[in-house]
Parts: sequence; C-alpha cells; structure tokens
Amino acid sequence: MSTNPHPDDQAHMSCTEVLERIYEYLDGELTAEIELQIRDHLACCRRCFPHFRHEQVFLRFLERRATIIKAPPALRRRIMQMLIDEEASRPLE
Ligand SMILES: [Zn+2]
Repeated sequence: MSTNPHPDDQAHMSCTEVLERIYEYLDGELTAEIELQIRDHLACCRRCFPHFRHEQVFLRFLERRATIIKAPPALRRRIMQMLIDEEASRPLE
C-alpha cells in the first residue's frame, strides 16, 4: 500500500497488517514487540490513526455493555470488522 510511511523498512508493518491486529492490540493480546510496532505505525500513519480512534471509542462502548463484552471474541471481531468496513468506505479527508 502506498500509504505505508516506511515503504523501505521491512521491520515496519503495512497498514493492512496493523488493521488486522488492531483487535488484539486493543485487547492487550499481543507481545510487547508487536504492540510497539503497531504503536509506531499508528503514531505516524494518517490513514490508520482514524481507525484506531474509532476502535478505541467502540471498545469503551463495549466495556459498558456487559452483555456484549461477554460475547465470544469471534462475534466481537465481526462487529468491529463491520465498523471498520463502514469507516473504510468513507472518503479520506
Ligand atoms: Zn497505516
């Protein structure tokens, strides 16, 4: 993807890789090394950052909804994927 802020650096994740792991990142399921790579990417990528903020808002919503947070991870991921797809279909500013 041309939006990768570090196209020549193999150590950095692509936008797709970051978004694929955003759920694990927000749930704190990743290793510290991968978490750091995602944090680095989000800090400098204008394309991913809006997604990240969107996910954070949604996670806070989930935390208040005991019935939803008890849902299996697969269901939660499906809900979040829907929201990401909605967000991704909007034109970038
Ligand atoms: Zn990105």
